[in-house]
Amino acid sequence: MEIDEPEQATDSTEARVEPPRIRRLDESVVNRIAAGEVIQRPASAVKELVENSLDAGATSISVVVKDGGLKLIQVSDNGHGIRYEDLPILCERHTTSKLSTYEDLQTIKSMGFRGEALASMTYVGHVTVTTITEGQLHGYRVSYRDGVMEHEPRPCAAVRGTQIMVENLFYNMIARRKTLQSSSDDYPKIIDLISRFAVHNISVSFSCRKHGANRADVHTVASCSRLDAIRTVYGVSVARDLMEITTSDDNPARSIFKMDGFISNANYVAKKTTMILFINDRLVECTALKRAIEVVYSATLPKASKPFIYMLISLPSEHVDVNMHPTKREVSLLNQESLIETIQTAVESKLMNSNTSRTFQTQAVNSSVYTSQTSHISGKKDPENSAFSSGTSRTKSQKVPVHKMVRTDARDPFGRLHAYWQDGPASQHEKKSDLASVRNAVRLRRNPKESADLTSIHELLGDIDSNVHSGLLDIVKNCTYVGLADEVFALLQHNTHLYLMNVVSVSKELMYQQAIRRFSHFNAIQLSEPAPLQELLMMALKEEDLESVDDDNDDLKQKIAEVNIELLKQKAEMLDELFCIHIDQEGNLTRLPVILDQHTPDMDYVPEFLLSLGNDVDWENEKECFQTISAVLGNFYAIHPPVLPNPFGSGIQFYKKRREASPTKDLGNESANPEDVGEDDVDHELLAEAETAWAQREWTIQHVLFPSMRLFLKPSKSMATNGTFVQVASLEKLYRIFERC
Ligand code: ADP
Ligand code: MG
Repeated sequence: MEIDEPEQATDSTEARVEPPRIRRLDESVVNRIAAGEVIQRPASAVKELVENSLDAGATSISVVVKDGGLKLIQVSDNGHGIRYEDLPILCERHTTSKLSTYEDLQTIKSMGFRGEALASMTYVGHVTVTTITEGQLHGYRVSYRDGVMEHEPRPCAAVRGTQIMVENLFYNMIARRKTLQSSSDDYPKIIDLISRFAVHNISVSFSCRKHGANRADVHTVASCSRLDAIRTVYGVSVARDLMEITTSDDNPARSIFKMDGFISNANYVAKKTTMILFINDRLVECTALKRAIEVVYSATLPKASKPFIYMLISLPSEHVDVNMHPTKREVSLLNQESLIETIQTAVESKLMNSNTSRTFQTQAVNSSVYTSQTSHISGKKDPENSAFSSGTSRTKSQKVPVHKMVRTDARDPFGRLHAYWQDGPASQHEKKSDLASVRNAVRLRRNPKESADLTSIHELLGDIDSNVHSGLLDIVKNCTYVGLADEVFALLQHNTHLYLMNVVSVSKELMYQQAIRRFSHFNAIQLSEPAPLQELLMMALKEEDLESVDDDNDDLKQKIAEVNIELLKQKAEMLDELFCIHIDQEGNLTRLPVILDQHTPDMDYVPEFLLSLGNDVDWENEKECFQTISAVLGNFYAIHPPVLPNPFGSGIQFYKKRREASPTKDLGNESANPEDVGEDDVDHELLAEAETAWAQREWTIQHVLFPSMRLFLKPSKSMATNGTFVQVASLEKLYRIFERC
């Protein structure tokens, strides 16, 4: 060994004795690499060209595209044109007419400023420019390669403005071209882009078409109003369902901005969010803002459709960093969080108040019997209740993050039920529930008495409202999440005070209130396999008295289970129609409601849920019945500590001695052999699972519970006194203590 090694080393390093030479990259290589960043795909080239035309003051811009932009992109405008003497350097890198000193960046109004776009295009495609300036008799045409003119500009006939043609994009970047060719082509993206520009720049006419087509796919004429522009581009059905929205903030300590726009109302139905966002007239994306608005929609409207949003935000230019992204697509904003919160609040109150003049369209999608029936029910004049009385009836399956749904460990002692979990496309169910909602609507019209259902729900909502603690409401709405204090309490800050909040009680109440607000309008969580009530109820009953190992008791338990199953089967129709809890005739649970979007209950608690559905519901009186079912749901969906003990705390012991305290026997798995494993053996798999469960829970508390609590929770008076919220410190006092130290 000792002898061999040095020999080997000499052998293998012989080739590396001399370090490789560092060389300056060829200018053209550098430029091509940079160009690949600025022009990522055909749509980014179109964006740069259209922005140049807008910067040139054009009032008419037309785009022609061939092969998704890979063969040809041609953008023609009627802007101010380009001077003859500038043509030689037009396509060199960093040549621009828009910026001269770095400080100008702070106040720049034009969209371009880097002088990189045209140059980049010449490194990855063939660029030809035809342009004429005011007062000239003829224009010039010139082609560029790698930043330089290929020949002297040639005089030619031209109409006012500039036409830029990019051919064979990425001809010299084989990999990029291949991926773009194999991925679905860029034309839809280009259409989307032009549509956005057209909606925002209403004094400019846009057209966009495929090469050789005689019809344009987007065509707008300069119009007088934004809504007209939206109607032209996105259609009457979109424009009809929009509401104007505006808000602003003028507090230098928080944020300064103004927002105007249009957002969709409850009648609008779409599978994908359309968000057209301009910040200081720049078309940008802001994922955080988009998500924040989606949260409001999905939670406010029962049949959560994705929204349509056109939004224009103006803020002092020194608050926007436009130079963050090579394509200037994402921007970063000063005080982004507070800005987003203000906008969220505005959207929420707009949605809540939009209930007064609403009509509902109920349409069966999958049933030929019902397709021709459309019913209109006018909305109630009660903004408070908009959350449940509004909405369209089209059912969509709810997206649940995959990692939340399936546990992959087949030997999972607790989590067998997770195998039932599925983000079901649930087409069967969609059909049925579309049918069900049409039937409901038809029945409601025929027999108005049945809408009496809603009276007790109105009353329950009224009870919640009249029981609000206003001080707590303010805390809940304006608090900041600090962290988890222990397994049950979270720490939050409101102004200068710190509070402990019981996560379990608060989430229980929140879920209860949401269950009532969404009453009879739930989306469904489909279980991939029916979960047998018999087994689940037995599990719950056994859990109830763990001490007793007496098998005689089992008979009694069987009986209790059977009685419960009968009862639940009897109530199945109602549970399904009003609460989306589906129990089939064989006595299996197959479906659960979505109570809070992005949140699924911990399936380890299904047995207890079913048991208390049987035991704790008052089936006699309508109002109490709805209330108790909602409470049982609330309890199930609340954010409990995971069943597995906390591995980050004292619970770690559990994973060392698991075999003795094995919970597997509770699930009837007798195969585990206690002699197999020594005392200190840690069950790593189970430990890892527990760690995930606990980490996930913390994430859910911060990112799902807190935001939805701010929006929807109406904290009751008792929460102020029963230990749900406890003030632990006031920061002023703490500062005073620190000062002394
Ligand atoms: P930037 O827009 O960042 O200045 P570009 O590479 O996009 O850089 O364009 C370089 C320059 O070419 C611009 O500053 C502008 O003066 C000129 N230019 C580009 N396109 C047009 C156009 N359609 N009409 C008039 N001038 C244009
Ligand atoms: Mg530009």
